[in-house]
Amino acid sequence: MNIHTATIKGVHQTSHTRGAPRGVHLATAAPRQPDAADLRSRVDKVAAAAAAHAAAVDNQSRFPREAIDAARAERLLSIAVPRELGGEGLGAAEIVDVCYALGKACASTAMIYAMHQTKVACLVRHGRGSAWHRLLLRRLCAEQLLLASSTTEGQAGGDVRHSAAPVEGGAARITLERQATVISYGEAADGIVTTARRAAGAASSDQVLVAFLKEDYTLERLNGWDALGMRGTCSAGFKLAASGLREQILPEPYETIHSHTMMPFAHLAWSGAWAGIAAAAVDRARAFVRKAVHRSGGTLPPGAAHLTRALATHRTLRGLIAAALARFAAASADPAVLESVDFQSGMNLHKVNASELAVATVMSAMQACGLAGYRNDGDFTMGRHLRDVLSAPIMISNDRILANAAAASLLGGTPASLRD
Ligand SMILES: Cc1cc2nc3c(=O)[nH]c(=O)nc-3n(C[C@H](O)[C@H](O)[C@H](O)COP(=O)(O)OP(=O)(O)OC[C@H]3O[C@@H](n4cnc5c(N)ncnc54)[C@H](O)[C@@H]3O)c2cc1C
Repeated sequence: MNIHTATIKGVHQTSHTRGAPRGVHLATAAPRQPDAADLRSRVDKVAAAAAAHAAAVDNQSRFPREAIDAARAERLLSIAVPRELGGEGLGAAEIVDVCYALGKACASTAMIYAMHQTKVACLVRHGRGSAWHRLLLRRLCAEQLLLASSTTEGQAGGDVRHSAAPVEGGAARITLERQATVISYGEAADGIVTTARRAAGAASSDQVLVAFLKEDYTLERLNGWDALGMRGTCSAGFKLAASGLREQILPEPYETIHSHTMMPFAHLAWSGAWAGIAAAAVDRARAFVRKAVHRSGGTLPPGAAHLTRALATHRTLRGLIAAALARFAAASADPAVLESVDFQSGMNLHKVNASELAVATVMSAMQACGLAGYRNDGDFTMGRHLRDVLSAPIMISNDRILANAAAASLLGGTPASLRD
């Protein structure tokens, strides 16, 4: 039996046992040849759908259904899955660029996409050796499944490297019940990939990552999501009660998954989304300054220098992301480099720097527009961009990251050359 036949049989089997079969259409599962122009036009379509509904998504604090439906129609949810499993085998650079394009249109859509792709990246890199997870990835491609993430639990805030709730059960089946403080788009997702303590007797840092599909769990709302920004992420809190097969636990420990993929990939994808928000703010500020120049017969308005500053910080942010992507690509084949203090603190500090630059850029863009940027109405309002981007420093608190990195800052010295 070849792997293709086995995989498809497996998907049907899995669906059947759960009583919620969802057709796997072989025709739609055929791998698509990645092509930069083709990808650009597909992303543009999704971004257009996201932009058209961004204001309503924000006003109503609702899931960006139209944008995610468009992403499904354009098969963007599976572009990072290897081609042999039905995806397009695209890497972090392409994914981060999609996050950027979506961030220009609708921050919530971009962040949802970034979180989904982070989970896909974990499954692709760390689930490859597991038949169950290969089937999940194949099904994700065929059905364009959207995956949510659950790491934040109870009162632990952004302490991702400790879990309270344990996986329980026997050799075949497992259960998990956790108080998930925040699960973005939990209700809209087709599955949740969650951290958990390995077992009741395990230390809180001895974690695993488990993938559950919608038919495996129930969500009981603990709180809603009426937030300053990122309102379309619908990041409510839930009691997650899940059960499934023990094979649904990814084979590698979460410690490895976190350092090799989860942390660096999340920080890169998030920073792409934030750079997109900042780009939209810069474009708006530029339009404002152009209009002012036109109205005054060629005189630059006094706030024009803020536009220049916004452009400068945005340029720095783009450079930072490009450098971090190159660093991730160079490290990704070598576990020792991925696990090194230098790489880990570098990718954590990338998050801190990128979030601060994104906020600074949007602030400067707003100042360039003055009152027209501050007010909530009019063509140059910057309110949504500013509210959305203010999530960046708190989404895993910069303070927490800086405090955790403090000890590593004592090691080593500054490089001898700027080319090191
Ligand atoms: C838009 C959005 C979407 C999200 N989606 C999800 C999701 O889908 N799934 C999920 O699991 N989580 C999600 N989260 C949660 C996120 O991952 C973090 O867990 C959360 O933002 C941290 O919350 P906190 O500020 O309450 O916690 P904490 O990290 O505990 O921070 C609380 C306060 O303590 C300060 N602080 C913390 N540690 C230190 C320290 N060592 N030194 C000094 N000060 C410190 C912080 O600055 C902050 O003021 C989301 C968050 C946002 C903003």
